[in-house]
Amino acid sequence: MKLLRHTPDWNATPPEAWREWQLTQLREYLSRRVVPFSAHYRRVFEEHSIQPSDIRSYEDWSRVPFTSKKDLANPRDFVLVPDETALRHEPGMLLTALLHGRAAAKEKAEAEFRPILLTSTTGRSSDPVPFLYTKHDLENLNISGTRLMLAGRSQRDFKHVNLFPYAPHLAFWLAHHAGLGFGTFMLSTGGGKTLGTDGNIRLIDKIQPDILIGMPTFIYHVLREAYETGRQWPNLKRLVLGGEKVADGLRARLRELATLLGSPDTHVMATYGFTEAKMAFPECVGQSLDASGYHLSPDLGLVELINPETGDVVPDGHPGEIVFTPLDARGTVVVRYRTGDIAEGGMTWEKCPNCGRTCPRLLGPISRVSEVRELHVDKLKGTLVNFNLLEHLLDDQKGIAAWQIELRKRHDDPLEMDEVHLHVTAEPGVRESELELAVSRRFHEATEITPNGLHFHTLAELRDQLGVGRLLKEEKIVDHRPKNQPAAASVALSS
Ligand SMILES: [Zn+2]
Repeated sequence: MKLLRHTPDWNATPPEAWREWQLTQLREYLSRRVVPFSAHYRRVFEEHSIQPSDIRSYEDWSRVPFTSKKDLANPRDFVLVPDETALRHEPGMLLTALLHGRAAAKEKAEAEFRPILLTSTTGRSSDPVPFLYTKHDLENLNISGTRLMLAGRSQRDFKHVNLFPYAPHLAFWLAHHAGLGFGTFMLSTGGGKTLGTDGNIRLIDKIQPDILIGMPTFIYHVLREAYETGRQWPNLKRLVLGGEKVADGLRARLRELATLLGSPDTHVMATYGFTEAKMAFPECVGQSLDASGYHLSPDLGLVELINPETGDVVPDGHPGEIVFTPLDARGTVVVRYRTGDIAEGGMTWEKCPNCGRTCPRLLGPISRVSEVRELHVDKLKGTLVNFNLLEHLLDDQKGIAAWQIELRKRHDDPLEMDEVHLHVTAEPGVRESELELAVSRRFHEATEITPNGLHFHTLAELRDQLGVGRLLKEEKIVDHRPKNQPAAASVALSS
């Protein structure tokens, strides 16, 4: 059931109309669905004496408290559980009951509220948090999935292969529903865990798909193996990436590999999504090969960018932490959810130069708020190291095929200094000595520290260390310092 009868066109509605529509939808959604049916938000709105029906401006809205990961300790409190009596008296329900009988009205409520699917977060450090979907949410998953297809200019007669691991994970299910919603061929292989790299390559070889969808490093791994074993995949048109962020260097390398496999015109399209949104936002495919920002779905969710320290909303075009509020979700619902991700390029409502759509866009790169860590590399004081910067630097460094940063204690002694070790695989034909010099210098420029060790590995070794095909997220940064010491890994907010 849509709360507002008219939903504007995703493609062509001007910003002013969206802003107005979102505010109205927000008010309706909060007053009729979230606050009455969510134990957590009923309590929060009561505690802050906020009536959802009083939210008349974005200033009113800014008084609603944020939700963050630590609030999700009791995930059940975030599930919308309807009050049957209240629901029965809704005009829409009354009408259904009147026209089609009470059984039909009951069916309608079931479809809207009964949880039938679960995905969960894949936090590196925290416990996984389950997010429930109802049939209503799956319909929205079809819609946002279809938009991935539209933004990527896919066609119904294209063949798609979904390489995400079979898992209760948004990425896999979104790709699946993108195929269902768009009505096209989508083969889900389950990724490396299920069939192995060879199994995936054999299937792709048989099917000769137009589009591959998966995690960037796994796709890279598959393409590279395919090329090294003499495959030709001349049908490839898009590589659609999700699950982790994609550096420019990796994009360029993926395009090179596609060219070597016989597909020189392949577009690399990244998506940005997270469990709590129950959707992902795509880049678009147009004339340019450059990244065009992540196209939001303003009818399904409200995105705000805030200063992570003050919590104030930042103006368009300024970097800020991404805060998400769904506008039509059921099942598990979080409001003003702080993702901990920073959109470095800010948000824009300007028409996309690449595809002409007028939906708002998030401009990357996307970094983690909490990736500034304090390291004790000398006796005097802690040094703040921005791991986002390091990641971008290593991803973009020419000549590196894979890398991993390892934090250790000297001699594994908890009382000793911290050490930073860098594990690297060089691209074929690149001299390790040259890479060593370039990497150490840039590492020092970015962080003012020099890695304690630079270790070269074969690609197979490093893939194993990173958990490619084994873990849902690769361990790009591993912390092997003994855990029981205070303040060793204190995490600060970046500005
Ligand atoms: Zn676009």
